[in-house]
Amino acid sequence: MSEEDEAAIGSDARRGSGPGGAAEGAADSAAADFIRERIAADQASGKWGGAVRTRFPPEPNGYLHIGHAKSICLNFGVAEEFGGSCNLRFDDTNPVKEDVEYVDSIQDDVRWLGFDWEDRLYFASDYFEQLYEFAERLIRDGKAYVDSLQREQVGEYRGPWNEPGKESPYRDRSAEESLDLFRRMRAGEFEDGEHVLRARIDMTSGNMNLRDPVLYRIRRAHHHRTGDRWCIYPMYDFAHALSDSLEGITHSLCTLEFEDHRPLYDWFLEQLEVDVHSQQIEFARLNVNYTILSKRRLLQLVEDGDVEGWDDPRMPTLRGMRRRGYTPEAIRDFCTRVGITKRKGTVDVGLLEHCQRDHLNRVAPRAMAVLRPLKLVIENYPEDQVEELEAINNPEDPSAGTRKVPFSRELFIEREDFMEDPPKKFFRLAPGREVRLRYAYFVTCREVVKDAAGEIVELRCTYDPETRGGDAPDGRRVKATLHWVSAAHARTAEVRLYDRLFQVEDPSALEDFKQALNPDSVEVLRGCRLEPSLTGHPVGANVQFERQGYFCPDTTSTAEEPVWNRTVSLRDSWARAQKRGG
Ligand code: ATP
Ligand code: MG
Repeated sequence: MSEEDEAAIGSDARRGSGPGGAAEGAADSAAADFIRERIAADQASGKWGGAVRTRFPPEPNGYLHIGHAKSICLNFGVAEEFGGSCNLRFDDTNPVKEDVEYVDSIQDDVRWLGFDWEDRLYFASDYFEQLYEFAERLIRDGKAYVDSLQREQVGEYRGPWNEPGKESPYRDRSAEESLDLFRRMRAGEFEDGEHVLRARIDMTSGNMNLRDPVLYRIRRAHHHRTGDRWCIYPMYDFAHALSDSLEGITHSLCTLEFEDHRPLYDWFLEQLEVDVHSQQIEFARLNVNYTILSKRRLLQLVEDGDVEGWDDPRMPTLRGMRRRGYTPEAIRDFCTRVGITKRKGTVDVGLLEHCQRDHLNRVAPRAMAVLRPLKLVIENYPEDQVEELEAINNPEDPSAGTRKVPFSRELFIEREDFMEDPPKKFFRLAPGREVRLRYAYFVTCREVVKDAAGEIVELRCTYDPETRGGDAPDGRRVKATLHWVSAAHARTAEVRLYDRLFQVEDPSALEDFKQALNPDSVEVLRGCRLEPSLTGHPVGANVQFERQGYFCPDTTSTAEEPVWNRTVSLRDSWARAQKRGG
């Protein structure tokens, strides 16, 4: 409380909340992470003729989240920095879970983040014919075979990791027989699951991925692009490696879970003697505490109605964050500060909020809004008088100029800015006490009006006309400055305050992650009062409500019924922790 009192308003509250030393260190190291070093070395040695081609390869089975942002910033970022190019490629090999809704939203989100794939939009499904031919080639070369074991048996034969697996009785099928079966698989002669195509590698390998992985399965499912043309679909590892090669990708950047898949990735490219043998490089995925970054689980929240949808402002999806008021600049800054390493770790969600505050502090215009209104009547102010007082739009940015705010006899102030019986450290309004109203006058509380239930409904005050603009000519001082709005001019709005969606640091460690859902992740305030300049403010455009935080109109907001989301509050616990050396 006292901290807020002394820094009651404006930029003081944020001064000194700049990035701590640790964050700057992180930003520096991101500039020269191991992937960039490697690419620089490849360029220097003339490998790939100096070319850098990357790709961002989402599967269109959900909306993008902040983890994907890390990958997008890395792939598009290095392409930009090294004079290369980055493709957007949909890894759409599993028709059962994929949908055009996701294809569209993903493109929109990547663009919103600020990246451009120009004319390089690709779909793995566009390569189905070529992938099929690669598969036939492997069969002809004796490097793949059609297996007719049942699904469960395939698993059993593969064995546990610490024991060698068993070879399938179909492993020695002739190339002719496998080729015939594979063609008939494609032609739709078999039931789903009757046969699969497997690579013939090594059933005793210590790397499970090399124990004759499945390359194709039969699956009668409608594909969002190829329709019903195919009833066999390639598996991810096979399709991914070859799609990279077909697109001439030089550096195929992926997360650490794929480290054990690299030998298989290389195996495909070697066996098929492709022109471009892309280099897979793994980095640690982004984890954020109090947050779930699994599309499957996010989908579950959406389907179970725990959130309003993929764009719920509490979701870690780019859609949700955008609706909440997060900016692409802040998300990119966050990704830079997090950096690229091989070390697994979890990032404090406070850093994300810090980046957002940091950006909005620089660019968001200020305004006054009272979230929990308490009427304040100035008894000695003329009944019908209205003054237009000058207010600063952004103390961090003089070019943002000033605006006029109407002042009148009846105002609203924040309920929590008044206490009838204040403790020692409470410096704001109390009976008999004088405070400053921002940009306006000094007022003194003379009387507290209560309703029958004893609740305070109104404060009767007087003002000192000599203090216009907020300074007393006699030099007398007040200990607090309050924000306010003119009752007759204010706009009524609904304001939603968001908190973490999960109550525990690592919800995914729980047996049921939903146990950790925060029941108070949103607080809806009705009857909030906004200064009139905010009328018709565009959806998604951020404003700092002085002393409250950063807010923007929600996508559901209308001129008649404004709804505002709080993006982040003003308190920066992350920066404070950094300063304390935490
Ligand atoms: P799944 O494959 O389980 O559906 P996914 O999150 O891996 O989920 P993809 O669509 O395959 O989803 O991801 C696209 C790209 O984004 C991949 O290259 C993946 O490595 C990367 N990515 C996904 N999650 C993260 C994360 N948390 N941190 C960094 N990169 C990520
Ligand atoms: Mg994936």
